Amino acid sequence: MLRLAAALALFTPVASLAKPSKADLALQAQLLTHIKELASDAYEGREPGTEGEAKTLRYIGKQWFDLGLESGTNDPGHSWFAPVTLVAREPDGSRVAFSRKGRRVHIAPVAVQAFTSGKRSLIENAPVLFVGSGKTMPNRAELAGRVALLLDGGLDGSDRQSALLRAGASAVLTVLDGERSLDNVTARRGRSGYALASDDLGGDLEAFISREGLDGVLAGTGQNVASLQTMAQAADFAAKPVDLAVSLEASTRETRINTHNLIGKLPGKRPESGAVLLLSHWDHFGQCAEPPAEHLICNGAIDNASGIGVLTEAARRLRGVQQLDRDVYFLATTGEELGLLGAHAFAENPPIPLKQIVAAFNIDTVAISPAGSPFAVIGKGMTPLDAGIAAVAKAQKKKLVEGDAANAYVRRQDGWALLKHDVPTVLVSTAWSDLARMERFMDKDYHRPTDVVKPGIELGGAADDVNFLVALTRHFADAKKVPGAAK
Ligand SMILES: [Zn+2]
Repeated sequence: MLRLAAALALFTPVASLAKPSKADLALQAQLLTHIKELASDAYEGREPGTEGEAKTLRYIGKQWFDLGLESGTNDPGHSWFAPVTLVAREPDGSRVAFSRKGRRVHIAPVAVQAFTSGKRSLIENAPVLFVGSGKTMPNRAELAGRVALLLDGGLDGSDRQSALLRAGASAVLTVLDGERSLDNVTARRGRSGYALASDDLGGDLEAFISREGLDGVLAGTGQNVASLQTMAQAADFAAKPVDLAVSLEASTRETRINTHNLIGKLPGKRPESGAVLLLSHWDHFGQCAEPPAEHLICNGAIDNASGIGVLTEAARRLRGVQQLDRDVYFLATTGEELGLLGAHAFAENPPIPLKQIVAAFNIDTVAISPAGSPFAVIGKGMTPLDAGIAAVAKAQKKKLVEGDAANAYVRRQDGWALLKHDVPTVLVSTAWSDLARMERFMDKDYHRPTDVVKPGIELGGAADDVNFLVALTRHFADAKKVPGAAK
């Protein structure tokens, strides 16, 4: 089925605004070859730490080596492949015990659940301070050493929990007095979270208790959840101690995943003048559906085999022109789908000081718009690159989208991890110029087993992206046109 669909795609005319040149049609065919390969079932959905990763990195690494890049890790111990260690984290143990005046107060284990952001956290017999719905923050002296008892009241609950922890509470115990149930919260936390093994996740303790559970614990005190709610609504509400102490213990199960960023380099004439970075994520979700579904793999054709194709073909064209002033780095990141983790790892352990990167261009989900579409800039107004991008667009007779609507996606792409480290990073692509078209993809195939190579897959805009990225890289790699900040 997949193979047939892919074959048909070759013969489907490309809908286009401008007639693509012969070179552009050849480029589209090259992109299609990469996408078909990387999105085939043999790659098993390119999940970090699997055989699918090994196959993916072998394919991209061979492409880059053959077209003439060299390793860009600048680490003789790990040429080409920079190791990244991830941890998958799942809540494991939970123990919650209440006491009043030194005597144990019974609560059914199903009515309460504790979680830690770290590996294991424990608090013994901490006094409980009722903080209402958390609208007014008690001072540090009031919170220190205490467990804040918080009414849930809505979706911003986790913000108020974090604020209370930052303000000095030992833990936060949230009463699920509204829409959320303990099952909802547990299911949400139970979905494994991912992080870099090197990240310090602290040991924040949070617990959740059902309304019935807390009413049971408060029996005989003259208070219950309803009276606490009334109290919290008073205009002059101030935090009040509750005649309870609580012990909380939680642990997390961690599984390590060994994965890699792939880094190539095209050496410049004047590497001391800095570098330009092009990046795109290679990873996807692996198997993402369960039987009896027929197709279980999330192949990630558009997200993001298309981006790797564009990155690779941009490299080929940059290799072909005269040597540039600056080094150009090519980075295929891991763990984007798990929270931009490969890009974070790159930023924390870069092959060159990040200050030397004059411009970075991310490439993600680009087989969307037809040839001749304008270009959107995700990250517009957030870097010093805008004027240079506009100048290159003018010289190349390319249209840039007005406004910054595409910035709505800035946190959802690898560029965000680099922006957080002050690396001037944008995503320049036709794909994000027609957001209605992009949202149709998101509604239909995005992160689903249907993101496969379909007949008529649109590659016109992706080919335009390659040409524009080559022009942008040549501009920003020119030390005369763009004086660098590098030292
Ligand atoms: Zn994705």
